[in-house]
Amino acid sequence: MEKIRLLDSAKAELAIRKLKEAYPNAKYYLNFKTPIDLLVAAILSAQTRDVIVNKITPALFAKYRTASGYADADESELLSMINNVTFAANKAKNIIKTCRILIEQHGGKVPETMEELTALPGIGRKTANTILINAYDKVEGIPVDTWVIKVAFRTGLTSEKNPDKIESDLTRTVDKNDWGRISYVLKAHGHAICHSTLPLCSKCVINNLCPRNGVEKSL
Ligand code: SF4
Repeated sequence: MEKIRLLDSAKAELAIRKLKEAYPNAKYYLNFKTPIDLLVAAILSAQTRDVIVNKITPALFAKYRTASGYADADESELLSMINNVTFAANKAKNIIKTCRILIEQHGGKVPETMEELTALPGIGRKTANTILINAYDKVEGIPVDTWVIKVAFRTGLTSEKNPDKIESDLTRTVDKNDWGRISYVLKAHGHAICHSTLPLCSKCVINNLCPRNGVEKSL
């Protein structure tokens, strides 16, 4: 089995600095105005491309607006508005169920703590971190999505594949001031250069640092 190489802390710091410089405008990728918009968009985004979610959410946000709007929604009508996303039927049910809990237990507001958020159905640490960072400007951890998993592993910022363990590794390596943005930097790098199947290593700003863990072919 191929040996996984980790960057030492000086190299990790340098790699992160170079990536941050390469993507100065990296930011959260789903459009929203309110915490409830963000919660709904985050539920819709599971295994669905951002561009699809961003296409359907303006009409959805305009129609339902608040937790009670979604809690009282007609399920089939809601489903008809989101049927371009994967697992649309489950997501429609989840949105309604989650918003009913928000009404019953949180006065109709999206909670502002990790504990309360992760107690909601279908909300894991990734989504909770995303909501805390982007809706409330509270940084408790680092959202770990599929791009973060891939890029952090390849670059030797972690040897883990489990999101919670990756988050833990990244919070040790990445300066806390960067926790709120590092996921979006890694995702931007994945989109632009560190492609899933054929990364463009020859064009990569960290190609002299990156151990390329798990990369079999590259350009
Ligand atoms: S593109 Fe290649 S060198 Fe750059 S981060 Fe990805 S695997 Fe590493």
